[in-house]
Amino acid sequence: SVKVAPSVPNTQVWEVRLLKEGHRHFVKTLDTVGAINIWKEERSTMDIMVNGPRAAQVAGILHERDIPYSIAIPDVAVLLEREQGHALSKTFKRSSTFGDHKKMDWQSYHRLDTIYEFMDNLVIEYPYLCSVIVIGKSSEGRDIKMLKISNGNENNVGVWVDGAIHPREWISPAVVTYIADRIVRTFNEQPESVTNKDWYILPVMNPDGYEYTHTHDRMWRKNRRRFGECVGVDLNRNFSYGFGEKGEEGSSDDPGNVFYRGPKAFSEPETAAVRRQILEAKTNFKVFLSFHSYGEVIIFPWGYTSEPCPDYVELLEGGTAMAKAIFNTNGRTYKVGSTKDLMYYASGTSIDWSYAVTNIPYSYMIELRGKTHRFLLPKEEIISTSTEILNGVLRLMDFVDRRCTGTQSCVCPK
Ligand SMILES: [Zn+2]
Repeated sequence: SVKVAPSVPNTQVWEVRLLKEGHRHFVKTLDTVGAINIWKEERSTMDIMVNGPRAAQVAGILHERDIPYSIAIPDVAVLLEREQGHALSKTFKRSSTFGDHKKMDWQSYHRLDTIYEFMDNLVIEYPYLCSVIVIGKSSEGRDIKMLKISNGNENNVGVWVDGAIHPREWISPAVVTYIADRIVRTFNEQPESVTNKDWYILPVMNPDGYEYTHTHDRMWRKNRRRFGECVGVDLNRNFSYGFGEKGEEGSSDDPGNVFYRGPKAFSEPETAAVRRQILEAKTNFKVFLSFHSYGEVIIFPWGYTSEPCPDYVELLEGGTAMAKAIFNTNGRTYKVGSTKDLMYYASGTSIDWSYAVTNIPYSYMIELRGKTHRFLLPKEEIISTSTEILNGVLRLMDFVDRRCTGTQSCVCPK
């Protein structure tokens, strides 16, 4: 059944304030039992979605515990319609029939088959620059498709770019495909800091979850692996470095929880595929970028501890260079800082792993727009979001090359 649909009226998003010890744990418990759906967790607040019929009950429970909240989105159904710009009955069609087949663009959000066809078409158009590699199969057997952009120079360093590790963050694969499209189509006009890179671009790391957000539940976060009655692992808690650290604050050992870390690190085919691809590639990676939404922040390690990572100042500077380019594009302010400082504890994330285990110095996670609509960013904002992020990413390439001369006197970390 479709969990988020216009037939559930008055579904709202509340911003809950966590003032006392135990509040965070209590709100997470409400999610596990299905009373609410956690959208975002921060240091002192949480965004939660509450279904209309349960609103009075949840309000009572929060009031009882002195947990204050305010209404952030008064009617989710209204934003759901605006997001894609048409009635929901269309959005939640179970399968895309031939008549519905959509060509890739950045005017709306697209299904997996359209994104994969877009990647294949780039290879047909630019065979000397692009290749598509199936780096693994998802738990439901879908291809995990990666696009590689490279001029074939052996001295190139690697840049990893991924999207949709969390499938409900639809703006993420839209931005990642836009970056790929622009780099390929303007490759000859790009500066050397862009063309001297091998670009490994994975627009949809979690294809099962992504399809599920189009067919069943718009707010699904995990993959679709079955654990008895429960479904799904939070793939961004399934990487090995700091796996399971900080107990239930950093991730969950409960398969019913939205932050379930999985039975062990790299237990999931999607994370294992990323690990294998990066470790087995002959490229020396310098940059790792993982795109999420929402909140407009650029964050870097660590997430599993509040200690600063060894390259804190360097990563702050690189992130600030990106944020400046973003601001200069559309005037949006993205904050920069460590995961723990700007969000909250997150253990077993991809960027803690890429930074610590694979020694990719410039490892960032970027939470894209938007502040008001949260996950349900209107399709009209796809292009403006994508252009500001493209400028940020290109600026980072310049920053990295200025730091990293590839010689003995190189000042980049590691
Ligand atoms: Zn995310």
